[in-house]
Amino acid sequence: MENPPQPVALEQLQAALSEARWDRLAQRLSRSRFRRRFRLRGAERSYVQREGLARVTHQAQVFVARRLAPARPPRDGKQTPYRGHPVFVAQHATGTCCRKCLERWHGIAAGKPLTEQEQLYVVAVLARWLAAEMGTQMGTQLSSLWQGEQRGLFPSPEETHEAPSP
Ligand SMILES: [Zn+2]
Repeated sequence: MENPPQPVALEQLQAALSEARWDRLAQRLSRSRFRRRFRLRGAERSYVQREGLARVTHQAQVFVARRLAPARPPRDGKQTPYRGHPVFVAQHATGTCCRKCLERWHGIAAGKPLTEQEQLYVVAVLARWLAAEMGTQMGTQLSSLWQGEQRGLFPSPEETHEAPSP
């Protein structure tokens, strides 16, 4: 198995998807009865709150790279569960669940591997939808959501590995 992708910075996401492009997409999605049924609630919502959008975005990078980026992803059309992870919900809500939906909603042709730039765009769409569902703009007031609630309150696992003072 190949190495997981390097985590993207918030600035890369913002560069990959302008607010104007997001607004147009959100408009189109809102006209689909199927897409707009998907909302972030319950366990998936708590997960984003707790873990932070940075971590969830990195998980989105891994999902996109493994389950969407190949020219012919395994079980394409059925590879994205309806629940169990906030990114799965975001994928159905944004038409990034499979290569057929990616072509229909985002004009990215099926049958060929996604480029780095296309993967980044998809991840930016997912992160932007999650931010919107959490009631947060990408550009403003995102720092607390990006880091996660618990990370702000408690030391991160890396920090707890510090050697105790003698
Ligand atoms: Zn689909």
